[in-house]
Amino acid sequence: MVDKFIKYALHPIILACVLIAWLFNLESPVFYLLVLLSVHSLLGALEYWKPARPGWVVPAWPKLFNVVLVVILVMGAGLVAQLYQVHLVTPLSKFRENMSLDIWPHSWPLIVQVFLVFFTSELLWYWIHRAEHRWHFVWRVSGHGAHHSFKKLNALNAGLNHPLELFFLAVPAALMELIFGVGPAAAGATILLVTQATIAHTNLNMNSKGMDLLFTTNRHHIRHHSVVLEESNTNYGCATLLWDRVFGTFADSFTVDVGVGPTEPTLAQKFLMPVREPGDTTVAPG
Ligand SMILES: [Zn+2]
Repeated sequence: MVDKFIKYALHPIILACVLIAWLFNLESPVFYLLVLLSVHSLLGALEYWKPARPGWVVPAWPKLFNVVLVVILVMGAGLVAQLYQVHLVTPLSKFRENMSLDIWPHSWPLIVQVFLVFFTSELLWYWIHRAEHRWHFVWRVSGHGAHHSFKKLNALNAGLNHPLELFFLAVPAALMELIFGVGPAAAGATILLVTQATIAHTNLNMNSKGMDLLFTTNRHHIRHHSVVLEESNTNYGCATLLWDRVFGTFADSFTVDVGVGPTEPTLAQKFLMPVREPGDTTVAPG
């Protein structure tokens, strides 16, 4: 019964709950933290109880250490977003207004706008992410290898990124606000994007058929984390697979071995990946 619930209902129910909760709590900043905490608590508990790959269950202390790292990185992400807002979006939005570039459909139903931001923002991320895997310089400067370096994946991995990558992850949201002046729908899309990225890393046996037409499923994103280069260079969308389907990088198979090589680098090695690649790496672009 629980297995069937996880397989067929968990993913769509989480997405629906997050969206409905957002519609009722539009103005509350505490809400975003509560959603993040609830989604992680639920997925984290289920991953201990019903893991899809039992070998990937992270023991309590390393898990707690990762939780602390993610909390620090989430605070860092907030700072980076604020930096972009103050030094880029706000000064240049005056320019957009002066040019009368107000093309965003603000009068459309809010939920439609949320999905419009979701897919447009993911289009920007698709190309940034693909560039990280295409050019060695971008791979290095973004620290993207650190995100790929884990040999055990779970929901928490969505937040385990190199501090340098925070500057890349915040680009789509900043550009969306800069170009379109999106407004309230941006927050709804952000919570949906973060929830999707979290589910995409989950170590649970979830059904992907149907969902994978539009949304990134953990089956497909875990394939992107594969230790095999050809498998890793697919499924770049962290929240939607729509753009992978459009641009021909969608692929499907069950992956068991993830990481940047046969061994997992230490925390210090992960941190130093922008300047020194681990010797046994298999997925870094040449
Ligand atoms: Zn990647």
